[in-house]
Amino acid sequence: MVSFQGNGIAPSPQYNAAQPLPVIIAGAGPSGLVAALTLQKYGVPFVIYEQNASDKLCSDAGRGIDMSPSVIKILEKELGLYRRLDAAMKQYEYIDVSNMDGKHINTLRFKEMSERKRHITGERNFGFASRSKLQHILLEALGLIDRHGRIKDSPYGILRCGIAVTGYKKMIGNFVQVQLDNSMKVKGSALLACDGVHSYIRQCMQEGSEGSALNFTNQEAWWGTTTVRPGSALEQELLHIAASRKMQGYNVGLVVLGTNQNPGSFYANEVSKNVYSWSYFVESESSNFDADLIRRGGKVLDETEKQELVDKIPSTCKILKLFSEFTPTADMNRSAVFDRANNLPSVDGRVALLGDAAHYYHPLRGEGSNKAMVDGYVAAMRLATAIMGKSSSSNSKSQKSPSIEWALLGFDSYTRRKGNTALVKKSRKYGQGATSNSRYTCWARQTYFKFMSAPKMIRELCTGDKSNSRFVSDMIKELKPYPKPARCIARPVIPGSGACDSIEMELSKTKTFTEEDVGCVCIGF
Ligand SMILES: Cc1cc2nc3c(=O)[nH]c(=O)nc-3n(C[C@H](O)[C@H](O)[C@H](O)COP(=O)(O)OP(=O)(O)OC[C@H]3O[C@@H](n4cnc5c(N)ncnc54)[C@H](O)[C@@H]3O)c2cc1C
Repeated sequence: MVSFQGNGIAPSPQYNAAQPLPVIIAGAGPSGLVAALTLQKYGVPFVIYEQNASDKLCSDAGRGIDMSPSVIKILEKELGLYRRLDAAMKQYEYIDVSNMDGKHINTLRFKEMSERKRHITGERNFGFASRSKLQHILLEALGLIDRHGRIKDSPYGILRCGIAVTGYKKMIGNFVQVQLDNSMKVKGSALLACDGVHSYIRQCMQEGSEGSALNFTNQEAWWGTTTVRPGSALEQELLHIAASRKMQGYNVGLVVLGTNQNPGSFYANEVSKNVYSWSYFVESESSNFDADLIRRGGKVLDETEKQELVDKIPSTCKILKLFSEFTPTADMNRSAVFDRANNLPSVDGRVALLGDAAHYYHPLRGEGSNKAMVDGYVAAMRLATAIMGKSSSSNSKSQKSPSIEWALLGFDSYTRRKGNTALVKKSRKYGQGATSNSRYTCWARQTYFKFMSAPKMIRELCTGDKSNSRFVSDMIKELKPYPKPARCIARPVIPGSGACDSIEMELSKTKTFTEEDVGCVCIGF
């Protein structure tokens, strides 16, 4: 039985036959975890299936992601992670810009600006997060971290690791049938496909559609995570940069722009104390699909390849040379860079694609995780209104909740798809500029950065966030006429056996689960 210990704000939902079926979430990346936490806030039952083992879930130590204002607002205010966010996110203090010839171009000073904003408004400014830590605080808020810091993964709980979702079948009636790779089937009130760029659910939904294919951007990325050892040449160089640019502190983002002689772009962020996450983008002709740029994807380098990278870097660019030399081979990856124009529908009845499963951008503009988390929040809010709105609202008699199908159809709006497609194109262009060897493009980029200021940079970084804030406000407007679900500040308590478990068993007993079976096995609501 999955039950919730509430504080009396809303009735604690007891998971039983009278309750809605769980929402099935495929994947515990940023979109899946934000969706789960939002559902939990409104007492909607859910189960997450994650193909990775729990010890690998947050193992991607140190990868940095830009955090946009919309996402910060959702995490801080809507999901109540204000304090927890400090453990995962840092605000930009400085971004130091130089070029591959070792020439200093500009230092953007965010520190004073951010401190002022937080002091006056209590709000965080634009910043970046370690994605593994971000996942960790989301899991913690979901009650899925035990007191030893381990992820609570249980075959009867709300997080079930080591199980992949392989497909779905739309059923007549009020549920969707979800296929797992352990030859079991589960039924859910809806399926949220948060299973990343190679989504099985996407393949199932868009079978045979050419528009679903990934597009090679003619670039590759080398990326890694580096621990800066005290006394090392790398630490000396970082200290030297900090001192010569009068940067107080050590929380510095580094940008190295290519020249026409030495094209490419390098970015590094200190994602936790003395741990830097970096990436280096260059043009490439090979498009190795087995090593595409996805989280935990990419090919881990061997010594020969590492040396290839070290040799590639001009000796004038000391900082990049040191990062590549000081990163252990096992912490370095190489991947071809892909994106995907997103024109195909990403909702099919009670099934919706979220995050990278729905849209996939060139990573250089740092939009992917933000879009993924906003998707998670919006889809879950829509589902919460459809599933819990009627039962928890005082004016439920006068108004009906929307259907789940309606709620998800609105999630796949024309404006969202249009915005995503525009962002794919914009990010692609940005990526091309960042790796170009054209004299004019390199000069134009350097000039652009030379006259950049910190507030202007924040404004620029926020342009990609406009479609996110619009997506959220459209959702609020659309759901306004319907009864609001009540918030349920609750922690799931997961004893030995759960209803979700019994659903799995029921379905596994029904070997050939056909539409005729619906009437006898459906625990509807
Ligand atoms: C080097 C690099 C830098 C990046 N920098 C940024 C940045 O600065 N800012 C930014 O916003 N974004 C950035 N991104 C992009 C960002 O990481 C992705 O857009 C984001 O992770 C998408 O989240 P998601 O939840 O949709 O998918 P994912 O993070 O891919 O999560 C999918 C989850 O689903 C699981 N899964 C997969 N298949 C199945 C299945 N069949 N069944 C069950 N589970 C499954 C996976 O194991 C994974 O846990 C970067 C990406 C890379 C590689």
